[in-house]
Order: sequence, then structure tokens, then C-alpha cells
Amino acid sequence: MSTMPVEQVPERETKPNTMPATRITGRNVLVVGMARSGLAAARMMAARGATVFVSDMGAADKLAHEISLLGDTGIRFETGGHTLDALAGVDLVVVSPGVPASNVLVAAAEERGIPVVAEIETASWVTSAPILAITGSNGKSTTTSWLGAIYKGAKRPVEVGGNIGRAFSEFASDTKVDTRIVLEVSTFQLERTNEFHAHVAAILNLTPDHLDRHGSFEEYVRLKFRILENQTSADFAVLNADDQTIVRVDLDKPVGKAQRWWFSVAHSVTPGVWWDGAYLAYDTGDRQGRIPGSDKLIPPGLHNRANAAAAVCMALADGLTPEEIEPGLTAFAGVAHRLEHVATINEITYVNDSKATNPDSVSKAVASFNRPLVLIMGGLDKGTDFRLLIDDFKDRVRAIVFTGKAAPKLEVELGADFPYRTAAKFADAFDAAVDLAEPGDIVLLSPGCASFDQFRNYEHRGDVFKQLVTDLARTLEGAQ
Ligand code: ADP
Repeated sequence: MSTMPVEQVPERETKPNTMPATRITGRNVLVVGMARSGLAAARMMAARGATVFVSDMGAADKLAHEISLLGDTGIRFETGGHTLDALAGVDLVVVSPGVPASNVLVAAAEERGIPVVAEIETASWVTSAPILAITGSNGKSTTTSWLGAIYKGAKRPVEVGGNIGRAFSEFASDTKVDTRIVLEVSTFQLERTNEFHAHVAAILNLTPDHLDRHGSFEEYVRLKFRILENQTSADFAVLNADDQTIVRVDLDKPVGKAQRWWFSVAHSVTPGVWWDGAYLAYDTGDRQGRIPGSDKLIPPGLHNRANAAAAVCMALADGLTPEEIEPGLTAFAGVAHRLEHVATINEITYVNDSKATNPDSVSKAVASFNRPLVLIMGGLDKGTDFRLLIDDFKDRVRAIVFTGKAAPKLEVELGADFPYRTAAKFADAFDAAVDLAEPGDIVLLSPGCASFDQFRNYEHRGDVFKQLVTDLARTLEGAQ
């Protein structure tokens, strides 16, 4: 009798993620959807000896870039629609996030009893490195990046990815057992996990979101709690003590066997991490104290205090010391384009919030600061009502610079209540903002509009803003 090679699973105290290689090697795998993580899963499994076929509804010309990534991998594919033939002989189906359960191939696979899983599920089969996973309605990217920064600051080996940056499958195979994997995990992924297991898993908060896809809030909450499902008593669930839904569900129907650690912006929690005045305090059972440097965090706003508490709680649960946590915690300047601190020049601070493409995000951004703001707003209007912002801006906004196609509308809706200037071109708007700002102010790019009138996307707009700040610093340096 011949046996297939089985990967060695190194001994460790928590449940290993690694499954026998035979679950991938020699198998026929269908990947539905050519999104980033689907492609990464396809490539990872092909590299490990699976026969992989990718099927996407999109037209080939729209998927040219994705198709080019399949290159010489030997992965076959179809575009422009799904054919049921793609399921012939298939052992396993991997779905890209965003592909609904009603998808013809997913539905047919389920009918035939073929396992249908998410990309993080198969990626977790090929690594024994402990996973620190983060989910929730808001703050996932920020907390994931912050936790990654903490590990980097502590000089611990770490890989950061999932829903942010690189897909898990892009690095799972190469990750050594002493590395930590910090993952942003979405509900879409959790919907289709079976054995995915995190050593530390955090649920940041739960607010109604994506109900169009998940049906009800209860179902959405249930899916989020799946992140705890396979945890053992050697693992940690890091939960938000200020979120009534999380507290209630965990009390009523606790999921998994992990030890519960809590975080709060409002009161002390044991074991856990909370804000005590200007400092983050912790109580891990055997140690209590303050996190050094936590009074000097860069990302502003109450929501970022919650994100910092969650990241620190996860790091402590995983065994990092407060002293190891400090450098990365204090160095982290925020995720690119989301209230990202760019620089302070001549006592004026420049903040890039290019991701804010609707009035609600602008409102949150403005509420995050307690210094006078010179706002840069505008771009491509999405039919929203900017007058809703008037109350939020009162006593906070020194002046606004309107730019782009939406400028005339912004003038009408906000111009009567705040000093403003208008500059059609983005670079001129930046100059006007610099001119209007006084020492101690913040120049905040929080456009409240899409970027496509002058830029490829919001990242492009944010990068141009950062470049303008850099150029300004150089010019002023040169003048001295
Ligand atoms: P996600 O990855 O969950 O979308 P991000 O970290 O990218 O979250 O943050 C997106 C926006 O959500 C931020 O600009 C901010 O307005 C808001 N946000 C961030 N953290 C929180 C939080 N903990 N609670 C509520 N809102 C938040």
C-alpha cells in the first residue's frame, strides 16, 4: 500500500493549523472568483501540487491583470461565465470573498456535497505559525496594522495580511513556526471556515453592516463569533467590553473554549486592557500596570483608543511584555489614507484622510481632533447632502478649501456657514489650505467625495497630498 507524504506537524501547546499535505497535493480544486485572495489560493494550491481551475463571471478583458498573474502556473481558467463542467471531478471549492452562496457553482457544489471553503481556511492548513486574527464591523484594518507594528517594534517575526495588504495564501506556505500571523478577517471569510483556528482572536465591535448579504443582524453576529469556534483553552478571545452585543452574546452562548480577555475605553476589565485617563492600563492576572508610552499615541479619536486597547490586549495575551509593546504602539501613525498623520511643519500638522469619500466619514474625522482644522474637501460628488455636516463643523473648522467637480455644490451647502476658498486644481487647494492654517492647526484632507474627477482612486489622491506635504517641507527647509 502506498501512502501519500504527510507534513510533519511541530509540537506546540495550542491546536495546530497544519493539516496533512494530502488535503491539497494531488487534489482537484476549483476556485470561484478571480479576486486577489482567490488567485492567491489558486497559486498556493497549484504550487503544492493541486490541479487548479479558476472560474470567473467577469469578461476576459476586464480580468487581464488577474489572468496575467496566473502566468506559467499551469492553472487553467474560464472567464465570462461559469460552466457546470468546472465542477467535474472536483474535491474542493474555494470561494473568493464577495461570491454569494447563490452563485451557480457554489450552489451546485453544495448540492453535490463538495466542501466549499474560504481562502483563509486552506491557507491555514499549510502553516503552523500561530494566528492572531481580528474581525469586527469597524477598525479591522487599523487594529491589524497596529498589532503588526507592535510585533515589528518588538523585533518579533510577523506577517500581516488577510483582508488588508497581502492575502493569507500569499505568505502562508513560507511562514515559519516562530512567526506570528496577524490577519484581518472579514465576515465573508468566516462564513466559510471549518478548521481555521486563531491563537488570539479579537472581535472589535458589532454594528449592522452588510445585512444585504447576511440576512439579519443575528446571522451577521453569529458569523463574526465563528472566529472563536475552534479555539482551545490555551487560546485567547479578546472582546470589547463596551459593546453590548458582544457582551450579551458571549454571556448567553459562548463560542469556543478560549480564555476571555477584555478591552474597554470606559472602565477597568480583568483580565484585560482599558483606558485609565491618559494611559492604557492592564491586568493580566499575574501582572498589573500601565503601558509605557500609551499617553503618546498618534492616531486620533476615541475609536482609535479602542483599537489601541484591542491591539495591546492581543499582544499581552500572546505573551509580549509592556516594554516590548511600547515602541511599535507609539510609532504607528495610522493606516495609509485613513486619518494618517503625514508630518508637522512649522507647527501645522498634515493629516491624510483621503479614504473619507462620504459626509459620514468626514464627520468622524473632524470629531477626532481638538485643534482648529483647515479642511480640504471635494472631488466627485456622490449626490450626498453636505449640509448635514454644519453642526459637526461648528467650533472645530477654521476654514474649508473646496476643490474638484463638487466645489460649486460645496460652496452652496457649506459656504454660508464657514470661511472658504475654492481652487479647482488639487495642488492649488493644498496651497490655499497651507495659507489659511495658523500654527497649532491641522490641515485635514477629508474630501467627502470620490476621487475620480482628478485621480485614479483615493490612494492616488492621498499619495499626491503626501507628496505635496513632502515638497512643502523641502521648500521650507531650502528657504532656511
Ligand atoms: P475596517 O477595516 O473595519 O473597515 P478601518 O480601520 O479601515 O476599519 O477604519 C475605517 C473607518 O472606520 C475609520 O476611518 C474610522 O472612521 C472608523 N473606525 C475605525 N476604528 C473604529 C472603531 N473602533 N469603532 C468605530 N469606528 C471605527
